[in-house]
Amino acid sequence: MLGLVMQREADIHRASVPMEAPLMSVNCYLLSEGDDAYLVDTAWTPQSTPDHVTTLLSEAGVRPQELTGIILTHCHRDHIGHLVRLQAMTGVPVLLHTDEAKTLSLIFGAYARRRRELQSWFQSHGVPVGAAADMLDTIPKTQTLELLRPHWLSGGDVIRVGSRRWRVLLTSGHSPGHICLFEPERRLLLTGDHILNNESPNIGAWPGSPIDPLGRYMTSVRYLASLGIDWSLPGHGEPFQDVERLIGRQLSHHQFRLNDTMAALAGRPRTAFEVANSVPWVRRSMRFEQLPARHRYLAFGETLAHLQHLEALNMVQRSMASPIVWWVVAKTAE
Ligand SMILES: [Zn+2]
Ligand SMILES: [Zn+2]
Repeated sequence: MLGLVMQREADIHRASVPMEAPLMSVNCYLLSEGDDAYLVDTAWTPQSTPDHVTTLLSEAGVRPQELTGIILTHCHRDHIGHLVRLQAMTGVPVLLHTDEAKTLSLIFGAYARRRRELQSWFQSHGVPVGAAADMLDTIPKTQTLELLRPHWLSGGDVIRVGSRRWRVLLTSGHSPGHICLFEPERRLLLTGDHILNNESPNIGAWPGSPIDPLGRYMTSVRYLASLGIDWSLPGHGEPFQDVERLIGRQLSHHQFRLNDTMAALAGRPRTAFEVANSVPWVRRSMRFEQLPARHRYLAFGETLAHLQHLEALNMVQRSMASPIVWWVVAKTAE
């Protein structure tokens, strides 16, 4: 679906690009007013569908060479599909948060190095060699992504689009340098993958990612709840208005997962791999080993994120030796 996001917002256009379940589609947005025009994310590039980004620009009457810049909410593959081509075609700066350098290194570094790093990281968390290999085989072998004109953003920066002022909010968690864009006058939020309507974004801990991504995520969604947001424009799915309800749902989802993680550690210390195998997955209906290998990979990162958050809350501790084991901190009598 292409066109204006909402009839009354003449400065915001959206392309919704089909992708596979469960997300079904990914959005990219064009913010344009006066001489300013920014693409926010560049969508996904499935082989079989037309180039929605070019159509989006032409429907909005903006030639690619007239873009002011490309803003990335984060550097996951489903949000940067046309980036290489658009960079080469337009030469415009690519605006992203400084902490997304970590995501670029994890996803787009040299394949052999990434695989080696992840392999020893899995090993340090007690994942058997065969189980690790199954998950590692799902890592795409994509070549390095080169940003030709990166412009590194910080939280609190303001991006002017004509008369509009979009504030950059660092919303770390789903990726280290994930950002949302907030326009205070209309209380509009471009959420990226931080808050979605029908899905819980993956919050994982990975080699090189900042410690306690779940704690960062929970802090930043609570902050969003304080902004009085009217409309949210997500990275996947349709715009929505009830962001506070969705934030509440996310917080309780993670509280359930934290409780499951604590229950998995009752009785004896366990590795993260043992914890992942002890907690229920997919609406409590599947065991870890039943998940497809790619989902096991993501679920393992989630398990680590929950363990790190419990550690930050001083509820669990871990050993330093490999494989790392985790245990519940004994409560001391007052
Ligand atoms: Zn993402
Ligand atoms: Zn996404």
